[in-house]
Amino acid sequence: MYDYLIVGTGLFGATLAQKLHEVGKRVLIIDKRNNVGGNVYTEKVEGINVHKYGAHIFHTNNQKVWDYITQFATFNRFTNSPVANYKGELYSLPFNMYTFNKMWGVVTPEEAAAKIEEQRKEISGEPKNLEEQAISLVGRDIYEKLIKGYTEKQWGRNCKDLPSFIIKRLPVRLTYDNNYFNALYQGIPVGGYTKMVANMLEGVEVKLGEDYLKDKNKWDGMAKKVVYTGPIDAYFDYCLGTLEYRSVRFETEVLDKPNFQGNAAVNYTDRETLWTRIIEHKWFEFGKDENGNDLPKTVISREYSSEWKPGDEPYYPVNDEKNGELYKKYKELADKEEHVIFGGRLGEYKYYDMDQVIFSAIKLFEGIKR
Ligand code: FAD
Repeated sequence: MYDYLIVGTGLFGATLAQKLHEVGKRVLIIDKRNNVGGNVYTEKVEGINVHKYGAHIFHTNNQKVWDYITQFATFNRFTNSPVANYKGELYSLPFNMYTFNKMWGVVTPEEAAAKIEEQRKEISGEPKNLEEQAISLVGRDIYEKLIKGYTEKQWGRNCKDLPSFIIKRLPVRLTYDNNYFNALYQGIPVGGYTKMVANMLEGVEVKLGEDYLKDKNKWDGMAKKVVYTGPIDAYFDYCLGTLEYRSVRFETEVLDKPNFQGNAAVNYTDRETLWTRIIEHKWFEFGKDENGNDLPKTVISREYSSEWKPGDEPYYPVNDEKNGELYKKYKELADKEEHVIFGGRLGEYKYYDMDQVIFSAIKLFEGIKR
């Protein structure tokens, strides 16, 4: 009899398994996939760690999480500085002095602020839709070239038909700073996320290719407590309906050249290009293999926003009223399952960054009576 059966080897399950194992609990962790890591899984292709379920950049201000996770990997100094490509014109992101200099030729922060202020005046009164909201925050030029097409591809709808509340703020930096995240710590685990998760699970019994829900009774009989990190609605066999997700589709290609775009992430902000961005995975690790050698090939992933339908990979929970209400009802059912703890992004139907999901698992561990 195990003390804990953990369903899911993503960062939530792996953190909890590691912590429980460390204090001497008998832990079994399973996953329906054939690999550990959940959505942070990286797969080696041509010597490059490919982020199979979307680009993952670790960033945190949480000292506890940083001290914890760095036990299992050394992090490189990767800094997320995406580039926007608007019909061949390149702009720095997030919006900062480099962006404004390219857009308007302005040099000083005062000039940039004055330009934004002048363009914002176009909207008077309460913005009626996303287009008006964006212009009222950053002006028409930035909206037209860097926001409109990208947002329309993401939502599959015209900005005039999207509600203004989707964009509450648009951070504008009046400094020459391309660092996307304002985080104390940032980087990519050297050797890939899969290796990091495998290090976390060292000594823990792992079974892969096992779907808990296909033989729930068998698994439940094997442990005193179950920690479930799969989709909460699937656990209850969708009895109240299906929670919705926003989806992304990736088209990954190996190219027989060393450098495709010279940056890890390039966003395509026009409406006509079908993909939203291209990730060139090798630049997360500076184009080198683990021994510091240059890699002759490259791997790129084009990302497309797509409508999610049941059965697709769940990516981003949809935080609207309808789904929020449905989640609440599932949560009530979950609270009645005394031997099961629900956790992680799917178990709690919540968008968590990696550091947040690790912190949530650490907090759960600390609250467990041992
Ligand atoms: P998951 O990683 O989803 O793990 C759940 C696991 O449970 C999966 O392996 C699944 O196979 C398994 N499972 C489900 N059901 C069953 C079952 N019935 N039986 C057995 N196993 C089951 N965060 C950042 O900090 N930085 C980023 O740059 C970033 N980029 C992201 C990009 C994308 C496209 C997405 C979607 C998320 C991104 N995140 C990022 C968030 C990050 O992915 C999550 O914080 C993290 O993966 C959540 O871990 P988890 O363990 O909760 O879930």
